[in-house]
Amino acid sequence: MEKILTIADHSRYFKNCTYIYPVVSRRSNGISLGINLNLNNACNWRCVYCQVDGLIRGKPNPIDLVKLEFELDQMLDWIINGTFIQQFAPIGLRRFNDICLAGNGEPTLSVDFVAVCEIIAKLRLKYQLAGQVKTILITNGSEMHKLKVQSGLRLIAENNGEVWFKIDRGTQLGVQNVNQVSLSLSSVVQHLKTSASLCFTQVQSCWFAIGKIEPSLVEVEEFVSLVASIKSDISGVLLYSTARNPALAEGATISQVSELFMLNLKAKLESHGIKVKSYL
Ligand code: SF4
Repeated sequence: MEKILTIADHSRYFKNCTYIYPVVSRRSNGISLGINLNLNNACNWRCVYCQVDGLIRGKPNPIDLVKLEFELDQMLDWIINGTFIQQFAPIGLRRFNDICLAGNGEPTLSVDFVAVCEIIAKLRLKYQLAGQVKTILITNGSEMHKLKVQSGLRLIAENNGEVWFKIDRGTQLGVQNVNQVSLSLSSVVQHLKTSASLCFTQVQSCWFAIGKIEPSLVEVEEFVSLVASIKSDISGVLLYSTARNPALAEGATISQVSELFMLNLKAKLESHGIKVKSYL
């Protein structure tokens, strides 16, 4: 029997594809066609909640662009002209929402990032996806100062694009603890503004408890104040908590925040006129 995709199943390997993986996503409320550019599980960050098994610090290897284009073409044909959605999507989630650059590490680290954006644009045209299907980039934003990455963002913007820009905490110490990277908040804001100047950008933020202790009021207030300072740049905020078990040892004691915590954080952001979606 063929497998129905579930929210918990974000397997990177579908029907022998190397780069392309379809998932059902709560955030997209349907099918999201993921593109994984980090086959070696390399990222420049090491977020404690990361769900990538075997995550390493580093950069991805070059992409086999011919193979990636072939796989994306095949999957789009199956979804648009075939029976993929009926065969694999659960009832209630039988819609194609987006092509999403995400995967097992930061996608903009790839030397082939722009070439992959060009492939997406070409195939979106071939299948006439126009406004019905989004192109989403999920990013930690660290490479936004690079001109090549900015070219990629322009292409994404021209293809019904959105950037989901990771900001998990509003203090330097919070970022250090959660993302395990040393970063000034001013550089985060600068990268966010670069992204927003090129493409619709939402902040994506993960909140969780450590050893059952939820983030402090200070962390919450600092985050709200940081996001309020960039509210005119962003189209909204996506809040979520850990839905699956983290893969890293340092994430062993993390768990979901309570519904009350999430509602409180959402309300604080909304009080600044910021559009917020939250998922537990
Ligand atoms: S940026 Fe993404 S892939 Fe990289 S460590 Fe964080 S959660 Fe994992």
